[in-house]
Amino acid sequence: MVVGDLSTYSETVVIGGGPGGYLAAIRLAQLGKEVTIVEKEWIGGVCLNYGCIPSKALIYAVNQYDQAKNMGHMGITCNNVKIDITKLQDWKNKSVLKLRDGIQDLFQKYNIKYIPGEAFFESSNKIKVVSENGTSWIEFDKAIIATGSRPRVLEGLEPDGKQVVTSRELVNLNFIPPELVIIGAGFICLEMSSLFAKLGTRVTIVARSILAKNVDRDVLSSIYEKMKELGIIVMENTTIDRVNRTKEGVTLYVKNTKTNEMSTVQTTHVAVVAGRIPNTNHLQLEKTRVKLDEHGFIRVNEQRKTHDPHLYALGDITGDPMLAHKAYKEGRVAAESIAGLPAAMDTKLIPVIIFSDPEIATVGLSEQECKEQGIEIKVGKFPFSALGRAVSVNKDRGFVKVIADKEGQLLGVHIVGPHATDLISEATLGMELGANLEDIALTVHPHPTFPEALMEAAEHALGRSIHIKK
Ligand code: FAD
Repeated sequence: MVVGDLSTYSETVVIGGGPGGYLAAIRLAQLGKEVTIVEKEWIGGVCLNYGCIPSKALIYAVNQYDQAKNMGHMGITCNNVKIDITKLQDWKNKSVLKLRDGIQDLFQKYNIKYIPGEAFFESSNKIKVVSENGTSWIEFDKAIIATGSRPRVLEGLEPDGKQVVTSRELVNLNFIPPELVIIGAGFICLEMSSLFAKLGTRVTIVARSILAKNVDRDVLSSIYEKMKELGIIVMENTTIDRVNRTKEGVTLYVKNTKTNEMSTVQTTHVAVVAGRIPNTNHLQLEKTRVKLDEHGFIRVNEQRKTHDPHLYALGDITGDPMLAHKAYKEGRVAAESIAGLPAAMDTKLIPVIIFSDPEIATVGLSEQECKEQGIEIKVGKFPFSALGRAVSVNKDRGFVKVIADKEGQLLGVHIVGPHATDLISEATLGMELGANLEDIALTVHPHPTFPEALMEAAEHALGRSIHIKK
């Protein structure tokens, strides 16, 4: 420390207060470490403030609205169902605030020092923190970099927060756009397209590839079907050649890469959700020994150690899958590794979930991946249309698919349908415990419930399904 330098010391420092960062901070504190966390914006990161929580709150509310309008066949008619988008945003913001306060309470409880401000590396064991209150420096023994990712911006479609937005503004819109072109092919595109279509927006998806290209096509078929019902236009394998923006709207000149056909798409509003890039560029990582991959993500090992012995990294900043529960798991692994406990990250069994309509959830290998790896498989599939619970609550679109090797060991589970995002946890636990088809099929599942579909799919793979023929 140089004379006059206002450095303080903290045994451990976490940079970024998103799911990965705040979980790591709490786990470090539980393990007896002195912890300082630095966050430049809002505790909870993208997930709590602009991602998982706000989007799911909106999807839930809009599904209620949509359902209220569509229950005539059950003899229930609601006249004059209206949506007040400002009130909806207020309610959603309150949920976010409640959860954010909850995390800050935990910081207090665990004696975690929270410093609002932006961190920059001065060396491998020292950061500078710049905030409204001035600049300070912190020296540390170990730091965790959990600075997350931000939306990719496309040339000509730079967001202005009104006419052209990213996911960040999309979950905060306090008006319903009459038309919306969503550019992207991933889970945010799938979730947001049906949300806005149910609000009455004319939605067009422009996707460079096919939608959700890592998901088996049979799983996606229910999504395409529902999108058609909602009037969503899907333009896959389509690139944007040129953009014309005026006060009235946006014209996209697009090309189908399969047919080379050119066309134009006109819209009042555009949402660009075409991937995310890592927040590494402002950190001054060149002052450390951290190494990046060719896309700018931080390279880490199984303990989430970087190439710098003082520094760990986790969450979106380490790359795919960019999901909050992956960041949570990494936060635990990194904290325990710093505290000297045996811990390692295994990314094979990280479920992927999409709150589309119907929902999608998958874990483990897809049929396509098994094929590519030359694995001989048994597949069992059970449609929700044959499940008592699903039919009785009018949510019978989709199916559960189980994939096992020829000895019956579970390799993957793929669900499209009601509560898929909840149902996948039983499959994940089963696979974590090395379950085979018999284990799932012989477990008594209460009736009538949605999880019965997993048991039925396992029985189907074993060739003894009761409710459907093999
Ligand atoms: P982030 O959540 O990105 O947090 C990083 C934090 O670091 C930010 O708060 C940022 O302000 C801070 N920071 C950055 N640089 C600095 C610096 N130099 N100094 C101090 N602080 C800094 N995932 C799911 O699992 N389920 C979902 O349903 C889901 N839905 C989503 C919906 C949308 C619309 C979006 C955009 C994302 C969604 N995600 C979902 C993804 C999820 O939000 C991310 O995977 C998760 O937030 C990553 O966590 P993280 O801790 O790595 O980083």
